[in-house]
Amino acid sequence: MKKIIYHLLLVAILFVPASCSEDDQPNPDVSVVSIEEGEMSEFDKYLEHIFVEPYNLRLVYKWVDIESDMGYQLVPASYKNSVKMANLIKYVCLDAYAEVSPDDFLKKYFPKMITLIGSGAYRNNGTMLLGTAESGLKIALYKVNDLNLGNINTLYAYYFRTIFHEFSHILHQTIDYTTDFDRISGTNYVGEGWNSAWGRNQCYQAGFISNYSSKEPNEDFVELIAHYITNTPASWEAKLVLAEADGAEGRQKLNQKMEIIRTYMKEFWDIDIDALRDAIQSRVNNLQQVDLDNITIE
Ligand SMILES: [Zn+2]
Repeated sequence: MKKIIYHLLLVAILFVPASCSEDDQPNPDVSVVSIEEGEMSEFDKYLEHIFVEPYNLRLVYKWVDIESDMGYQLVPASYKNSVKMANLIKYVCLDAYAEVSPDDFLKKYFPKMITLIGSGAYRNNGTMLLGTAESGLKIALYKVNDLNLGNINTLYAYYFRTIFHEFSHILHQTIDYTTDFDRISGTNYVGEGWNSAWGRNQCYQAGFISNYSSKEPNEDFVELIAHYITNTPASWEAKLVLAEADGAEGRQKLNQKMEIIRTYMKEFWDIDIDALRDAIQSRVNNLQQVDLDNITIE
């Protein structure tokens, strides 16, 4: 299984103690294990309606060992947060793409399975596994029991960037991008050393939007898409300012890469990446108005 590991040392330090506290354990009164084999719950019917019928997407929220990584001690996602995550994935992700993409785009290319895991998965070296994917088709989202709607940055970091990252892998695996992209950072890619190659903000100056971007061109490509659409124009510009500090060429490289991505998304997928970003941002800003506990089929 291909594993995608994001280095989030700071976040890991902040959240490791919290994830060990009693408060984060799932409510023992709410069963996460289906005892009604073959009988669909109201939530299952809702998932059928919002995900399976339109997009052929299965959201796995019940505890299924085989769909998770047995190398970690993991906790199931709570029912309550699974409902919220389902509605969040639909509202922030699928509906945003649907607004700006051609008919059938999501049904054809969006990942086919998303598994929700309650806890994070930590490694000894302080890195946290944020999502795993097998050929982009199956995605696992961790830390679902830590869902905090009041913190947009963690919503992006824990869940949505993982989805956008993996979805973008499917796109370039379907239609490859120009090798001009690979040449912009050329010999600056560091492979497996991405985790320790950069000091604070150094990746920006080298022309990478994240440490993980510096692993190799495919990761760079999908990280750029995932970060671009989860930043406001102002927060993106703030990163470009860091990228040009001390006369570094980071801004120029990031702009060159984004120009290739902008053209690629428009030419091959008929998607305006700026319109996609606007759709995601306005939805995230409107979250307080959305009933994320709803499982009623309209
Ligand atoms: Zn990746």
